[in-house]
Amino acid sequence: MMNIINTKAFVLKKKNSGDTSLIVHLFSIDYGKIIVIAKGARNIKSKYHGYFEQFSLLNIHINYKEGRPYHYLNFAEYIDPFWKMKNNSVAVLYASVIIEVVYKTQNYYSESSIFKLLNAIFIEMNDSQTSPQYLHWYFFIHFFKINGFGYNLEFCNHCGKKLVKGKISTIDGYLLCENCSKNNNSDLNFNDEILNIFRFMYKKHPKKMINIQCDEKNKNMIDQLIWNTLKIHFDNMKNLKSILTLKKVIY
Ligand SMILES: [Zn+2]
Repeated sequence: MMNIINTKAFVLKKKNSGDTSLIVHLFSIDYGKIIVIAKGARNIKSKYHGYFEQFSLLNIHINYKEGRPYHYLNFAEYIDPFWKMKNNSVAVLYASVIIEVVYKTQNYYSESSIFKLLNAIFIEMNDSQTSPQYLHWYFFIHFFKINGFGYNLEFCNHCGKKLVKGKISTIDGYLLCENCSKNNNSDLNFNDEILNIFRFMYKKHPKKMINIQCDEKNKNMIDQLIWNTLKIHFDNMKNLKSILTLKKVIY
């Protein structure tokens, strides 16, 4: 049974198909990840020309058939093209990490909390002066929590002592106090400033992230902590292209 469905979706990536068509991978609020064929969308005269750029948020109507690997596009319109974000090269680097992780982790069922989180972060990356790096931390801190492996910021996961500083366990991604991480030879350290930034992110709206104060050393360490947490929890996160690109440009 085929029916026309309507949903909101972010463009994750696109590939050419035939002479003028596109195969578009989308992350939708109602159906999770979906693949849509947009016939003739590469044609200069197509009304959809340029719509399917990565990061665009679209309202789409598609011929949806459950169980089929792809669906045909009927109609698309912009909800938000995020032009300012797309034209900010630093924002593009950090947004690309988010999009690559969403592409590699989301399935073909609805994950509306992650969709809403992504939307909130992209709105800030587009409309505010907040550092895209901070906003990408915010996304991941909450992404980990939604997936059931959020950081416990208060107590050491091994001994239960109040956390002040320590290291992240490279085995299970938990935060360990100084004493419990003595034999842990990772160089992923956290201190009370980093803990406070994470606490602030747990509690506040993305709009408030503009108030974060962080020195360069802690900024780099938070990137490492977050990217390593990703690697620990997802097998396919070892060599993210977007992170390699970001490291080349930023570091
Ligand atoms: Zn401990």
